[in-house]
Amino acid sequence: MAGFLSERLADINGRIARAALKSGRHPEDVQLVAVTKMVSVDLLGEAISCGIRVFGENRVQDFLAKHEAWGDRVEWHLIGHLQQNKAKYLVDKVGLIHSLDSINLARRLDSLSESGRRSWRVLVQVNVAGEATKYGLTPEDAPAFLDEIRSLKGLDVLGLMTIAPYVENPEAVRPVFRKLRLLRDEVSRDRAWLNLQHLSMGMSNDFEIAIEEGATMVRIGNALFG
Ligand SMILES: *Cc1c(COP(=O)(O)O)cnc(C)c1O
Repeated sequence: MAGFLSERLADINGRIARAALKSGRHPEDVQLVAVTKMVSVDLLGEAISCGIRVFGENRVQDFLAKHEAWGDRVEWHLIGHLQQNKAKYLVDKVGLIHSLDSINLARRLDSLSESGRRSWRVLVQVNVAGEATKYGLTPEDAPAFLDEIRSLKGLDVLGLMTIAPYVENPEAVRPVFRKLRLLRDEVSRDRAWLNLQHLSMGMSNDFEIAIEEGATMVRIGNALFG
């Protein structure tokens, strides 16, 4: 088992590095987030033995089971839609939430941090492609949203995230990734207080294109574990 995983990991790391170099970037500037939503607690253990240290889960329930098994040995990211009433379970357990998608969730997270805890590290999810099935702010609403959450001291906003539509040829979604990067550049231009250093974009099917367009985090499940 561990054999197949370490081979896949080496392959993906190689592809990440090549995509970064191709676009004049450093391979170390792209973080692999290993998505474990279809992965058992045991296989997760093997992934940790292979040296993977950052994992992404999209459901709180599954995350808690895996966190209980493997705890603080690794860093956990929440990448899926988060319901307000579940946010409390994540306190002190996640390193980054990729999916901040509403003002109510922002306020909820902020209020959970009030007891003197450190801030939540978050990315704002943007529904660039406008798919009805996906969460996230519209690109048009994102600037006002960033302004609105500026006063929430319990949030440390580190960047933007998007999910591209699934397509056969990933070149077709290059404009989606490019649009997220340009949105980041545009909102940052007249907001010196923002520090949107991260772009979480790219999955198994399209991560190389996303890296060429500036991704600093790629969320990969299937290509690694499937
Ligand atoms: C499942 C999932 C991924 C990983 O998708 P793969 O195609 O398996 O690489 C990435 N991001 C989110 C938000 C997901 O839900």
